[in-house]
Amino acid sequence: MRAIRRFTVRPVLPPALQPLGVLALNLRWSWHPETQDVFDEVDSDLWESTGHDPVRLLGAVGRARLEELATDEGFLARLKVASDDLDAYLTGDRWYQHRVAAGSATTEAGPVAIGYFSPEFGITAVLPQYSGGLGILAGDHLKAASDLGVPIVGVGLLYRHGYFKQALSRDGWQQETYPVLDPDGLPISLLREPDGSRATISIAMPGGPDLLARIWVASVGRVPLLMLDTDVEGNPDHYIDVTDRLYGGNSEHRLRQEMLLGVGGVRALRAYSRITGAPEPEVFHTNEGHAGFLGIERIRELTVAEGGPGLDFDTALEVSRASTVFTTHTPVPAGIDRFPQTLVEQYFGESGATPGVPIDRVLALGAEDYEDGDPSVFNMAVMGFRLAQRANGVSVLHGQVSRGMFNGLWPAFDEAEVPIGSITNGVHAPTWVAREIIELAEAEGADADTDDTDPFFNAVDRVSGAQVWSVKRRLRERLVLDARRRLRRSWENRGSAKAELAWIDGALDPDVLTIGFARRVPSYKRLTLMLRDPARLKALLLDPERPIQLVIAGKSHPADDGGKKLIQEMVKFADDPEVRHRIVFLPNYDIAMALPLYPGCDVWLNNPLRPYEACGTSGMKAALNGGLNLSILDGWWDEWYDGENGWAIPSADGLDDPERRDDLEASALYDLIENEVAPRFYDVDHEGVPTRWVEMLRHTLKSLGPKVLASRMVRDYTLKLYAPAASNARRLNNDFEGARSLADWKQRVKSLWPEVKVEHVESSGVGDAPEVGDVMSVRAFVALGSLTPDDVEVQLVHGKTNGEDELSETRIDTLTVAESYDGGRHRLDGEVTLDHSGAFGYTVRIIPRHDLLVSDAELGVVAMA
Ligand SMILES: *Cc1c(COP(=O)(O)O)cnc(C)c1O
Repeated sequence: MRAIRRFTVRPVLPPALQPLGVLALNLRWSWHPETQDVFDEVDSDLWESTGHDPVRLLGAVGRARLEELATDEGFLARLKVASDDLDAYLTGDRWYQHRVAAGSATTEAGPVAIGYFSPEFGITAVLPQYSGGLGILAGDHLKAASDLGVPIVGVGLLYRHGYFKQALSRDGWQQETYPVLDPDGLPISLLREPDGSRATISIAMPGGPDLLARIWVASVGRVPLLMLDTDVEGNPDHYIDVTDRLYGGNSEHRLRQEMLLGVGGVRALRAYSRITGAPEPEVFHTNEGHAGFLGIERIRELTVAEGGPGLDFDTALEVSRASTVFTTHTPVPAGIDRFPQTLVEQYFGESGATPGVPIDRVLALGAEDYEDGDPSVFNMAVMGFRLAQRANGVSVLHGQVSRGMFNGLWPAFDEAEVPIGSITNGVHAPTWVAREIIELAEAEGADADTDDTDPFFNAVDRVSGAQVWSVKRRLRERLVLDARRRLRRSWENRGSAKAELAWIDGALDPDVLTIGFARRVPSYKRLTLMLRDPARLKALLLDPERPIQLVIAGKSHPADDGGKKLIQEMVKFADDPEVRHRIVFLPNYDIAMALPLYPGCDVWLNNPLRPYEACGTSGMKAALNGGLNLSILDGWWDEWYDGENGWAIPSADGLDDPERRDDLEASALYDLIENEVAPRFYDVDHEGVPTRWVEMLRHTLKSLGPKVLASRMVRDYTLKLYAPAASNARRLNNDFEGARSLADWKQRVKSLWPEVKVEHVESSGVGDAPEVGDVMSVRAFVALGSLTPDDVEVQLVHGKTNGEDELSETRIDTLTVAESYDGGRHRLDGEVTLDHSGAFGYTVRIIPRHDLLVSDAELGVVAMA
């Protein structure tokens, strides 16, 4: 019999145990082992069987046990310690309060709040609202912001089914299920109006009633995460389904979700501030293009909304842009969200989500009006760039690739000047580092919770090789046991009888070199590269002296049969009785699996097609646990591989033939494992410690540890993007005079730009045989028409040249006005010292100049000599 409706009854805790309820509802427990210990003590078996879920644990534990705990002095004392610790964590001053909030002699006060929008958030396994790296990154961003005291408010959706759960059929084909999540059983609470009724936001829909959404709040330490949910009475069924699942459905479904996230998200933030008194965000961060409609809603607020300032569109655009940061996450063109323009027209037209905002202006923001663009398409990344004054990729290499990919938006500028920077991703150490590793360093007197993380990582030098190695063995063993448990469940699922599964007790070995490979399965990540030469892989797995074992996991997008085929190929290989004790595919990769997986691996393998891995973060989590990376030089590894902290698989990325490229790269991978990795792992001293391996492990922790942290990443975002965006925004928001004059100035400069010309350039000071150290003087005669020298910057751009006179490694000096003539003509002078030998070239150009511009390319116009 099936229930027609279900809900979860929350337990009533005895008064003495009330703090347990508070601890369960703040997700900080998920990165605080001492709080987890308290839950474990409530009922160890239930803690395990609920998969470490405090809300379910408290719902399942019986009255008798609760009453017993309520009078257990020892337990109450430990509960008080955890509860006091949470209070102190939530209220004390942290990095942001010390360093940023109030500003300094040289910097303004930091933003009072930042809205961080993302389609998915991976915070803990018990709030499954993520599919992969993007969500985990967003979760880590919030956690690190909380640790640092950065006043972020997260904004996302609550999907009733989250992402799918993965299982395997008998013949290795991915099976998807979508269990219903009951919000009452999740660690979230409903945002309510002061009168107790639920707070809702609504969005006008074309040809239907308004779409309603309620707002759930998850507490991620100090950071609130607002999650919109359309499962409310009053919505017709097809509206209720808007938040059914993550990344499912057709274009229209996706558009509705993104409209809810962007437009509804801003409205949810407003409701949250109105109800709780929390400050309104001064900065909005769009984590990937999906949330981009937030900019349209902010323009509506500033232009036509009742009670708003009633600005014109262009002024509102400047205000909104100045306070928006956009992060792009994919160098794979197919990974970018694009909608039919007609669909956007329908949903953002006069009877749509943002009435009063002219639809032609909305469409122009997402138009691919550049070479090779598709005129029928609305591109969310393109809108992201146009609605954000600051934009970044997620590793140095990805920044560079993105500048190439989006150069079409700034066609007058070279790739290097495209205004997309980079901040390399990081991972939240308190979540991802095994407790045993943190305790090793703490035993040496190192403190994990400080702003300067170097001493923590350097402590590894004071730990003996034998100690390091015994901890690594323990972590490997934990992974082996977890993998066997998962393997057994999977085989039972696939229809095997218990009696057939005795071999699983011998699957994997806690003393064998363990290589991990877990990630989503889009084709560019090449799950099956290692199967290129099955005989060679088999030989590595079964080597009598120096065997390796492989732990593999990953979900394929439900609509991607190609990915499912790769999984099947992998599963079939791993099913072979000859090798199944050395290679396993574990279904349903998620945070719960990831937590013991990273620490248990000796080597983390990553073999994407360069340069399609924007950053990659799993290798960072492995590194923080003393794992060595074995990876193609892509994403973060391209930036931080130093020759000693792991291995680089040579990439054949110049090669056009993909088959040959795979052959070459796979063969290089086998060679590395056979000749470098395995010999080093098995080269042990008299205590059984592989001393050279442990040296590499120490070097990995010291060199990569401080860099790969999410706290480093969030500090970078705060200092390089959020704080400057807030200062610019304040200058524009001050009665909006700044924004009006900036918008007017931009229009004026753009319309008068055709008059701007470099008429003539003279140089002197270098003769027929220029030498290093010579000083070249340059005079430029320019015509500015009706613009003044204050409106522009005249630049001397110089650098190396090639055979085609292309400038590279350019540097820019500003020329200064020496003389002005009638008719808007001026002479500007400057000089440059020739400081390197070889081919030198220069040119002169004019660009618009305004205090509130962030990049030279912002207006997209330039006048060249
Ligand atoms: C870290 C992580 C990812 C992302 O890993 P990438 O290396 O970026 O592909 C995906 N899923 C889970 C569960 C993770 O923990």
